[in-house]
Amino acid sequence: MSNKTVIIGGVAAGASCAARLRRLDEKAQIVMLERGPYISYANCGLPYHVGDVIKERGALLLQTPEVMKARFNIDVRVGNEVISIDRNAKKISVKKVETGEIYEEAYDNLVIATGSSPLRPPIPGIESERIKTLWTVPDTDHIRNLVRNGNVKKTAVIGGGFIGLEMAENLKEAGMEVTLIEAMDQVMAPLDYEMALLLHDNIRRNGTELILSDGVNSFEDNGRQVTIHLESGKFVQADLVILSIGVRPNSQLAKDAGLELNERGGIKVDSFMKTSDDSIYVAGDAVEVTDFVFGDKTMIPLAGPANKQGRIVADNIAGLKQSYDGSLGTSVAKVFDLTAAATGANEKALRRRGMEKGKDYETLTITQNSHAGYYPGAMPLTLKLIFAKKDNKILGAQIVGYDGVDKRIDTIATTMRLKGDVLALKTLELAYAPPYSSAKDPVNMAGFVAENVIRKMVSFSDWDVKADSDTFLLDVRESEEVKAYSIPHALNIPLGQLRSSLNKIETHKNKRIVVFCAIGVRAYNASRILQQNGFENVLVYPGGARFYQSTHRAEEVDDSESDLHQGVSDMGDSISSKGSDDETCNCNCNTPTMAIQLNCTGLQCPGPIMKVFEAIKEMDDGEVVEVRASDPGFARDIESWCKRTGNTLCSNTRDGKDFVACIRKGVGKGGRESPLSESGRKVVDTPNGKTIIVFSGDLDKVLASFIIANGAAAMGRKVTMFFTFWGLTALRKSQKQSVKKSFMESMFGAMLPRGTGNLKLSKMNMGGMGTAMMKKIMNDKNVDSLEDLMKKAMANGVSIIACTMSMDVMGIRKEELIDGVELGGVGTYLGEAEESNVNLFI
Ligand code: FAD
Repeated sequence: MSNKTVIIGGVAAGASCAARLRRLDEKAQIVMLERGPYISYANCGLPYHVGDVIKERGALLLQTPEVMKARFNIDVRVGNEVISIDRNAKKISVKKVETGEIYEEAYDNLVIATGSSPLRPPIPGIESERIKTLWTVPDTDHIRNLVRNGNVKKTAVIGGGFIGLEMAENLKEAGMEVTLIEAMDQVMAPLDYEMALLLHDNIRRNGTELILSDGVNSFEDNGRQVTIHLESGKFVQADLVILSIGVRPNSQLAKDAGLELNERGGIKVDSFMKTSDDSIYVAGDAVEVTDFVFGDKTMIPLAGPANKQGRIVADNIAGLKQSYDGSLGTSVAKVFDLTAAATGANEKALRRRGMEKGKDYETLTITQNSHAGYYPGAMPLTLKLIFAKKDNKILGAQIVGYDGVDKRIDTIATTMRLKGDVLALKTLELAYAPPYSSAKDPVNMAGFVAENVIRKMVSFSDWDVKADSDTFLLDVRESEEVKAYSIPHALNIPLGQLRSSLNKIETHKNKRIVVFCAIGVRAYNASRILQQNGFENVLVYPGGARFYQSTHRAEEVDDSESDLHQGVSDMGDSISSKGSDDETCNCNCNTPTMAIQLNCTGLQCPGPIMKVFEAIKEMDDGEVVEVRASDPGFARDIESWCKRTGNTLCSNTRDGKDFVACIRKGVGKGGRESPLSESGRKVVDTPNGKTIIVFSGDLDKVLASFIIANGAAAMGRKVTMFFTFWGLTALRKSQKQSVKKSFMESMFGAMLPRGTGNLKLSKMNMGGMGTAMMKKIMNDKNVDSLEDLMKKAMANGVSIIACTMSMDVMGIRKEELIDGVELGGVGTYLGEAEESNVNLFI
């Protein structure tokens, strides 16, 4: 011990190594050489200084050479670049950056902590002065000055990794227009695609233009701006371009010295961070590491591993044998108001390794609150967990949310590091009080769900599942929630009514049934009911309708409108001036009514919508309620809820972390138009259901009624068919059923046609010949038979109601009717008719 150690690189790994070595060996000679002007600075904080979130430049500079000398007796030389290593002579050549003077320095141990550098591939035009990378303190000073001197307004960030995203956010923070360009179809490569979709929506909502799946072809600097030509043929113009497309390890020195590198340029070491040369160690971004999950080799350029490796190298130099057993790549990033985090492998990586979902691994996705829903400020987070089928080993996790994301990913990463399997997550005893978590923390919940998956009590569908001939979608949320957001082609049966409504979905028993609720909990309960009632292929939609909505934003009909509205609100343009006039509504709708205040903060979906529903029921037309909610989905939900319920959304804004909506009951009255309708935005819908009374038992008329019903259902309309008198015959089973009847009823029943097969044409029946000819022609022309039309109608969620009064009169019993038929009286029919704008009597 007590010999001379030279460390190349003076930031994360290098500075950690130097300080630890001094603590272990007071007598050692330690020299730290850094080519830049600063040591031990906070590179991770640099983007936030550009956005002025970190105001003090000095806060980024964690150590100076002088303090390192005084406290640690380390010979720190900034502006000194190591240019070569002579392994035989155990000395290095160093160039003084300022003077160009070259000198030699001998070593007993050499530590390479040279980090990595941002990629600048040879794209035509990349040499433009307007194209920058952000890596060092001088880079930060330069970019910060540019965005603050008033000459830069339009900026573009190339690359949607965590540094690119942090830069986009901070340029926005600095008042710039920002376009983020990413060649892949998603940002944040550590996330799987569907999890990244949660970020895409949010990035756009925060006013950043996001271009995906489009790489840069060339840059063209015209002296005032750079034109970025994209592969698609599109172009973007910017005053300043930040390039953030990845890093390469600074390993040229090692290569020139004959040390072994991997194909990505990472320097190979053993588990003690030592190269093939006994005197040379490596730590930080430049080193190849073991993938902690799979045990093979990889590169993970992150600050946590760099610091730990620096410390381990110091231990090994000082004679304390320490090994580094690999990196998980645990990372977290702030993406505007969301946080995205990941650890271990994602599904994309597993597929690249040839692994198959269901065979080699399972995934689950849950949406949970950051803390107890009843305590103000609870925000949803979406957690995806991936584990191996053979031994339940956790392979990776990803979380996107507003709050509490970091501690959950750390809990899972810790469990992985300590070799706990997925079932260990349910046993973790985690600190709980309402402001911080729930008695069952989201991580525990992930463990419970994993256990259910392992026990085959629940299976999840893919996030992009669609209704088709083999797949039936069932939504078990309350009808008010469905009014706020409906899953296309899903039949809504609230969970509380499911047991008594199983007949409605009986015809789908052979299909794959995918159950939705808001976040997945009710859907799981529903799946248990279904499974125990003979439905064999039942899947829960992962993360619930909330996750579906966020991952299917592009498919929403009113997307542009709601985005626009949200965008304006988010930027605070229409924040209400509270309490300005006691006689007028608090929002900017100028309604001469004081709004009723409804505080729904802390309530999660469907809480706020249900509260609004209850409040509006008690209000008079024209009265206004101001609703304050913390649930981020509320802003969008309330918009479509108002549209569907015929109430007026006067404003929908953001106030700090809260979402505030003003709703006037009914459409504007007495000539009072809301600002939204003045601006041409249609906010009220009329009822659009269809009701059809099927009175006739004639084949052609029943056919016509089902054709219309299917057409309306295909348009997403609610359709109710009310079968009465002769129409009931179409619903009869073809086989005689043994039911108790009076003599008269039996006589009547025997005379009535039994089911669709026995219905006749209203005209030209010709003793059955006309009917047979009609069926043949329909078949030849590929027109669905009546039986097929009926099946389709049921599959499309058409309600088929048999009139109980007519059944009684005609002596038809429930047992005689085909499965899936509901019984109802005239009240049921009238209720449905009130919600309809088309009512047919056939
Ligand atoms: P560095 O910290 O980069 O230090 C290497 C030093 O070696 C450099 O100062 C370099 O000048 C010097 N050097 C190189 N060659 C020579 C030579 N020949 N002679 C002398 N000196 C030399 N990681 C996270 O985990 N979380 C984050 O939030 C995060 N944010 C980041 C944000 C930005 C803007 C950047 C740039 C990086 C961020 N990182 C983050 C990555 C993290 O900073 C790095 O992984 C970490 O600093 C690597 O440590 P290192 O010691 O290997 O390299």
